[in-house]
Amino acid sequence: MKLTTKIFIGLTLGLMVGLILNLAAPSLFDVLNSYIFDPLGTIFLNLIKMLVVPIVFFSITLGTASLGDPKKLGRIGGKTILFFLATTTIAISIALAMAYVFHPGDAGGIDPTGATYESEEAPTVVETFTNIIPTNPIQAMTEGNMLQIIAFSIFIGFALAMLGKKTEAVLKVIEQGNDIMMFLVNLIMRFAPYGAFGLLASAVGEMGLEGVKAMFSYMLIVIVTLLLHGAVTYGAAVKFLGKMSPIKFFKGFFPAMTVAFSTSSSSSTLPISMKTAQENLGVPKPVSSFVQPLGATINMDGTAIMQGVATIFIAQVYNTDLSFTQLIMVVLTAVLASIGTAGVPGVGLIMLAMVLNQVALPVEGIALIIGIDRLLDMTRTAVNITGDAACAVVVGESERKHDEAKKSATAAS
Ligand code: ASP
Repeated sequence: MKLTTKIFIGLTLGLMVGLILNLAAPSLFDVLNSYIFDPLGTIFLNLIKMLVVPIVFFSITLGTASLGDPKKLGRIGGKTILFFLATTTIAISIALAMAYVFHPGDAGGIDPTGATYESEEAPTVVETFTNIIPTNPIQAMTEGNMLQIIAFSIFIGFALAMLGKKTEAVLKVIEQGNDIMMFLVNLIMRFAPYGAFGLLASAVGEMGLEGVKAMFSYMLIVIVTLLLHGAVTYGAAVKFLGKMSPIKFFKGFFPAMTVAFSTSSSSSTLPISMKTAQENLGVPKPVSSFVQPLGATINMDGTAIMQGVATIFIAQVYNTDLSFTQLIMVVLTAVLASIGTAGVPGVGLIMLAMVLNQVALPVEGIALIIGIDRLLDMTRTAVNITGDAACAVVVGESERKHDEAKKSATAAS
């Protein structure tokens, strides 16, 4: 049986078992969760998280070194950031429109009195940018600070490219380090079906299902918008810009999506999303190693969609009208907030607090959606990493064209 099928079975079984226990035997769920579901999920999460920092370091260093010339790095970087900003802006705009058309906040007679939420500190935009350069790269690695690790790896890769023959031996070590990590990803993926089962059973079993009913229209709008953005925006991007059939894209990338769905974390899924994009979608390694780790940290279209719908939802529940300028502020804050926050479970809600603050909506409104957020977190994480993969396909294709044009120009001269 194929691994994807096995993971899918693990997910479905986990969902069913969690749901049945939640409804029929909550106390049995508690026992099974603490001895089976939760440990299975945690072991799987730890296994893949173990690889994230070394993979990002090895692959970005290698990717930068093999790009060689700084011009190419700048070009790929520019295209990547442009794609990320454009798709995130499209994502949140669709979300705002959907929420305006379908009015999720007016649906279930939701009463916001008594809602409380302690918001956590999110970094300011200036802090985010100044913190990109690590003062201590080892500390960045122990803390798993993705943007800092990326910056450090780019510097090392650049130095390796410039020093050439002199540092050949170090480059070889990094190449082999990367091979070791990829080998381990393959090994760990064999455990994925069991991990997915444990994570799903645990998440669904713990979810308060009473909350789902009142929040049904909010959830439905978020999920429909996620699917719409995934299918239409990414479908069009890979077809017209990436010259790849959307069916091939979604089918090939599906295994990574199932892992993102189970883990609710773009960062944790990174080793698997890179491997899947390189092997199933044929994205060149240097492009994948650069685009996807960056995307896991700064590109979160799914999260932006949740924030768009949630902002309008909360405004409707609290009977507040947002002006057009405020809507623009929502878009800008959501796009910028995603740059500074890593892709880990639940981080979208912290970013939402920033957005709500920006437009003077009550942050307590988050308390209304927190109970059902886990399911949406799973779904939006799958969309987040699919956006990174779509970008990798598009940038890969445009680099291929660029190289071809250059080759024929040289041949002609
Ligand atoms: N869990 C999401 C991710 O890792 C972020 C979020 O929306 O909370 O991409």
